[in-house]
Amino acid sequence: MKTRYPLMVVGTVAIDAVETPFGKQDAVFGGSASYFSYAASFFTPVELIAVVGEDFPKEYRRILEERSIGLDHLMTAKGKTFHWKGKYGSDLNAAQTLETQLNVLLEFKPKLKEDREPEYLFLANIDPVLQWEVLNQVKRPKCRLVACDTMNFWIEGKPAELAKVLKRVDMIFINDGEARLLAKESNLIKAARKIQTMGPGTVAIKKGEHGAFLFHGEQFFILPVYPLEEVFDPTGAGDSFAGAAMGYLAKTDDLSFDNLKRAIVYGGVVASFTVEKFGLERLRTLETSEIEERMADFRRICHF
Ligand code: AMP
Repeated sequence: MKTRYPLMVVGTVAIDAVETPFGKQDAVFGGSASYFSYAASFFTPVELIAVVGEDFPKEYRRILEERSIGLDHLMTAKGKTFHWKGKYGSDLNAAQTLETQLNVLLEFKPKLKEDREPEYLFLANIDPVLQWEVLNQVKRPKCRLVACDTMNFWIEGKPAELAKVLKRVDMIFINDGEARLLAKESNLIKAARKIQTMGPGTVAIKKGEHGAFLFHGEQFFILPVYPLEEVFDPTGAGDSFAGAAMGYLAKTDDLSFDNLKRAIVYGGVVASFTVEKFGLERLRTLETSEIEERMADFRRICHF
């Protein structure tokens, strides 16, 4: 029987090079869509739209095949896979980008197969031109929620294209530094309010080890971070936060404020696993029961 994918994501599938105070790896399987779909797959089947190059290792594809991730739209193009090189200092909240090689992204033209009508769409961090192209191929109102993410590279590099996308999304997941940059506003509350006027009525601001804010219309929620004594590699935390949150929303199909809150709590909990090891290593061994245990623990430590 054909799998139905209520959630679809477009983003990068990458070969990263990552340096943290605890270690260094020259080739780590990463990318915004890889982390997103892996995290989402704990809640719902997810279809991935992305491009890789001829150098993309078979073993990385097999890692995606371990989960219910639809790979019909994972294209292989001539050239090299998107490559990002980043470094974290003692402040693990902020990645420093050392290199971004767009490679096969430069020629990528995403084309959805006719019968694809996801109810939930995530435009993960990627060129806003590609986010736009995918957005235009998904039918509304069948699609109940469109959310996106972005980063400084695109906010500074393609502001007009990004503004166009923002006008048409319902929700954005963005980290604190990038929210400030996008809104040109240093106060995060004001920045979120300003971003709401750019399009998305719901704004989730990820604040690394300080948790997250959720703005939904006039409503507001603060999420602390699940406390970890050892954070090994923060790469992918933001994408897995969004992946788990969107996966949970697609699974429950409930867009009430209460459910949005639960979704981002799941986001925070799954992200807390991602950062325990390099790349996707920790998510590969993660069990749903561990997510639920940490949820219960989280509820206990936040309740008063
Ligand atoms: P994060 O969840 O924010 O830590 O995202 C980490 C992932 O973003 C890495 O695995 C990178 O491959 C990917 N990435 C880095 N720069 C870009 C970019 N400019 N566009 C899309 N994805 C990127």
